[in-house]
Amino acid sequence: MAGIYIHIPFCKQACNYCNFHFSTSLKFKEELVNALSQEIGDRRSYLEQPLETVYLGGGTPSLLGGGDLDKIFSAIRTHFTFDQLKECTLEANPDDINVSFLEQLKATPVDRLSIGIQSFRAADLEFMNRAHNAEEAIQAVGRAQQAGYDNITIDLIYGTPGLSNRDWKENLERAIDLGVQHISSYALTVEEKTALAHQIDKGKTPEPQSEQAAEQFEILVETLCSNGFEHYEISNFAKPGHYAIHNTNYWKGAHYLGIGPSAHSFNGLSRQWNIANNALYMKGIFGADPVQEIEWLSEADQINEMLLTGLRTMWGVDLVLFRERFGEAALARLISKLGQENPLHYSLGAQQLKLTEAGKLFADGIAANLFED
Ligand code: SF4
Repeated sequence: MAGIYIHIPFCKQACNYCNFHFSTSLKFKEELVNALSQEIGDRRSYLEQPLETVYLGGGTPSLLGGGDLDKIFSAIRTHFTFDQLKECTLEANPDDINVSFLEQLKATPVDRLSIGIQSFRAADLEFMNRAHNAEEAIQAVGRAQQAGYDNITIDLIYGTPGLSNRDWKENLERAIDLGVQHISSYALTVEEKTALAHQIDKGKTPEPQSEQAAEQFEILVETLCSNGFEHYEISNFAKPGHYAIHNTNYWKGAHYLGIGPSAHSFNGLSRQWNIANNALYMKGIFGADPVQEIEWLSEADQINEMLLTGLRTMWGVDLVLFRERFGEAALARLISKLGQENPLHYSLGAQQLKLTEAGKLFADGIAANLFED
């Protein structure tokens, strides 16, 4: 199992919390799509396993037209086989999901939509500088469903200044009413060099509060789990049978090829990342110069990666696989370090190490305590 991630580095406007790579100028969109198509061919040998998932993320892939999508998918089809393709996701913003866009999309292999709703409250959307309003978000989901999309995920953000627990619960109820199959939800975080960080520095907006985020995380889990969603990864909830295959493969250590500026690739032994600059990326691709940096992963890095991703999921860390890959001594070290953790935060079986619901709140910290030096 392997996946391809394609980064579409364009957005209509910059959301205040976002530190992903994107440009708000679409001037070189066509050239960039040509560069993506070329990179797909140039790096066709990177994946050794059959292609199981394709994921178009960004940025905003729904800014692409039908011709752009055709070029990208035709490049993938030329160099990879789709025989074992199980999922093809495209991230879309609500304001782009109109009838004509959906018609163009239906002509592609995309069978899963990830819609960036973030909130149904006007105050939150304005605070985040989103390009859509709540009504557009609801209509976008309805249109996608009418067009036949029956595998839809939406994103929601909690912990926003001014978002009361009651508001958050109402947001979740509106999301549930949409009848979507999957919800990803994240606490608002302040990333360096974002407009949000600047606003906080200048005292124009308060800093997000960790107590608020922790309470709203509990409301999130309780509300979605009591409405038929499975909490299968810290930030991800799915109706039965609708786990995100691409992301699940990633958490389970599958290999993936990242195409486009800032995209990351992983083949088990190394991690590569493309330059996060559209002009330099295109120059490198068209000039046949390398656009990637590479980091070889030591055994400790591989162990830490497995712990960090595994502990975030309901499947936990596969200890049989852990022993096979890293040996008995590494497993003994892991179990010894685990003895220092709060026993209410994890469950340890012969085959799996998992976090309890209480432990999930501290997942990244627990993983860090278990890391190899
Ligand atoms: S959150 Fe999404 S739409 Fe907003 S700036 Fe970031 S990538 Fe673009």
